[in-house]
Order: sequence, then C-alpha cells, then structure tokens
Amino acid sequence: MRILVPVKRVVDYNVKVRVKADGSGIDTANVKMSMNPFDEIATEEAIRMKERGVASEIVAVSLGESRCQETLRTALAMGADRAILVETNVELQPLAVAKLLKAIVAREQPGLVIMGKQAIDDDSNQTAQMLAGLLGWPQATFASRIDIADGWATVQREIDEGLETLRVRLPAVISVDLRLNEPRYASLPNIMKAKKKPLEVLPPEALGVDPVPRLRYLRFEEPPKRKAGIKVSSVKELVERLKNEAGVL
Ligand code: AMP
Repeated sequence: MRILVPVKRVVDYNVKVRVKADGSGIDTANVKMSMNPFDEIATEEAIRMKERGVASEIVAVSLGESRCQETLRTALAMGADRAILVETNVELQPLAVAKLLKAIVAREQPGLVIMGKQAIDDDSNQTAQMLAGLLGWPQATFASRIDIADGWATVQREIDEGLETLRVRLPAVISVDLRLNEPRYASLPNIMKAKKKPLEVLPPEALGVDPVPRLRYLRFEEPPKRKAGIKVSSVKELVERLKNEAGVL
C-alpha cells in the first residue's frame, strides 16, 4: 500500500508570531519555519506502518512556495521515500489544498492519506475533511491510535466524552491528533541520504486546479495584553482582593 502524507511548512511552534504593522497578515520575514507538528506525527505514523510491513511506499506532498522543499526534505530524512511539491506563491486555503491533494491522489493512487488534524498557522482543521468529501472516501479524524488489517483501518479518536473507535474501509483519509506517537528526529546520515531522494516539482496548473483564494482575510490583530498576575500571602487576602479589586465575590 502507498501512503500519501501532506506536510505543511508553518511558522515554528516555538516562535512568538508577530502581526504585520498594517494588520494585513503575519510577519514571516526572518522567522524560523518548520513542518507543522501534526504532520510530523502523520509522517512518523506512516513510517511505522512501513516498518510493520503494512505500507510499501510513503510519498510526502507539500503545497506552497519553493522553500517548502525544506519541509519535504525533513519528511524524506525521517523516512518518506519520495516527495512532491506543488509550487505556487498564491496563498493557499483549505479548499484549494484539498482540490490539489485530490488531483495528487488521482495520480498516485494511495491506499491511505494520513495528515495533520490542523495546521498550527491557520488552525483551520478543514483540509482532511474536505479532501475526504471531494474523494468520496471514508474519513477518521483526530486519530490517537491506528491499526490497519485486511483493507480496513481501526481508528481510536479522542472526543469530549472519552475515546471512540471507528472502522473505515481503505482507501481513506485519516487525520492525526497529538497523542498518536512521538515523532523521531532525523539522524545526520538520513539527512544526507534525503538529499538524494526524488523530489518532483509541479505547478498547480499541471493538476488542473485553480488555487485562487475564495475567502479574504480582513484584518489580523494580536490578542489584548494580559496583566501580570500577583501572589497573595493568605486566603484572607485572596478573598479580600476578589471582593474589593476583582469584584467577582
Ligand atoms: P488545516 O485544514 O489548514 O488546519 O490543515 C490540516 C492538514 O492539511 C495539515 O496538517 C496538513 O497535513 C494539510 N495541509 C494543509 N495545508 C497544506 C499545504 N499547504 N501543504 C501540505 N499540506 C497541507
């Protein structure tokens, strides 16, 4: 079985994001970028499936500007076999990503698409669901455990009430949650080997998809600054302050 893993290049999760002075977007100049953390988890799971003999090939796909090649090289260094970059400078929104991925699925015929439950930059949590809808494939979102056998995936999901277990017939789209696994670090020899693995670059037009944005962001702003907390020396003082200063008692 071939597995397709979409991996997005995002602002590194350790970086404090800054809004551009004119409120038109996020400032990404000279900011450290990395693979979306949920996509690292998806890549790790695909690699473990290959190690268990459930998968035969892992194809990592990224959509975006030329520098997404770095993200793909990370996936290759972790253990993906080959990579595809759909290169565009157009701002990509979840529907465009889902349409482009659908076209890649038609070319690559994977038995499974495994991807992050959300990208930590736009927090959309839409692409996996849209892709499954466009393909007419079953979907299992927020996976915290995945077992593949006899053409079915048994997926444990974290939901508000606890854990839910679903069985979906393959091919399917699965989106992964934080507790599924702990992604490996790429070793230096594997980083070197990854430089030689195949990486194909395609324009969106080659896939017959017009990626132009359908939604317009009006304005970005930082959350209001929070006041620093204080330490109180006794329960009596706490009660007094809650009553007299915070006005909540
Ligand atoms: P989102 O729906 O934007 O929160 O993203 C959910 C998942 O879709 C991500 O974790 C990625 O696996 C995938 N994805 C979204 N945008 C891209 C992109 N530009 N390139 C590759 N994968 C993407």
